[in-house]
Amino acid sequence: MFGKEEFYRIILDNLFDGVYLVGKDKRITYWNKGATRITGYDSETVIGRKCSENLLMHVSESGTLLCITGCPISETITDGAVREAEVFLHHSDGHRVPVLVRVAPLVDEEGNIIGAVESFSDNSITIQERKRANNFQKEAMEDALTGIGNRRFIEHKFRFSLGEAQQLGDQIGVLLIDIDYFKKVNDNYGHDIGDQVLKMVAKTIANNVRVTDFVGRWGGEEFVVVLHNMDQERLIAISEKIRALVGKAQLHTLHGEIKVTISIGAALNSTNDTPDSLFERIDKLLYQSKSEGRNRVSYS
Ligand code: GH3
Ligand code: MG
Ligand code: MG
Repeated sequence: MFGKEEFYRIILDNLFDGVYLVGKDKRITYWNKGATRITGYDSETVIGRKCSENLLMHVSESGTLLCITGCPISETITDGAVREAEVFLHHSDGHRVPVLVRVAPLVDEEGNIIGAVESFSDNSITIQERKRANNFQKEAMEDALTGIGNRRFIEHKFRFSLGEAQQLGDQIGVLLIDIDYFKKVNDNYGHDIGDQVLKMVAKTIANNVRVTDFVGRWGGEEFVVVLHNMDQERLIAISEKIRALVGKAQLHTLHGEIKVTISIGAALNSTNDTPDSLFERIDKLLYQSKSEGRNRVSYS
């Protein structure tokens, strides 16, 4: 049979959640298979490094880097309290993954804190789940590059959601998103890396809105999101969250880390909007975000 340590290792490696241990110096000493599955980083890459070392880079919903302010692990090592937080990890492919983290102190026999254990579960709505929920009619509705809805899909959902909202007196929010200076990415790094950036952005958007909302690639480097049950406050919060998370996503390449920002036009429907009038509004708002300097959201 297995030794005791091997026995626990097997259990930890078979957990669905990611689990890792850090010492008091915050260097990672153990990293299970679940952690590899959720983050894309294997234990060889991670063990011995500090969690603040430019790797996982937990950020909050507003995009604040938690390693500098408010790292739950640091706080737990200091005060011994158990913590739970919703944060966004950095996946090795570049996109941001929403996770629920729980941190508990590791204590020796004398009661001294010798480190912490963090377990985390993937909170993202996977593109698979989204496909199921959106009932894609196979390739006809799917964007081949990114796996999210294509123009036809999102155009249909946009019209349908607006009609439904008007009948029921609900409000929807619509976002038109465009990557800033995307041409430069292609020019500097080539079309294939441009494609990978498009995937990273699509995934970051799709993973961070509710499964009942719709996300599609409008064309080129433009995306449309349709959000249900919206009001002004929620529309602003979600748009800013998407903007911040895309800005914090980064693609590892031989040329170094590649990051992009996005500009957004965001609006709620009014009772007499047609699909064309609503789209025209977000298009103008997007243009406004571009002309005011990019990496921002404009609302109406
Ligand atoms: P702005 O901040 O004003 O939006 O600048 P921009 O460079 O992003 O704008 P522009 O519309 O001039 O460039 C969009 C670029 O997107 C041009 C095109 O080569 C590129 N593009 C469109 N579709 C794809 C694609 O599927 N893959 C790649 N790699 N590039 C694409
Ligand atoms: Mg464009
Ligand atoms: Mg652009």
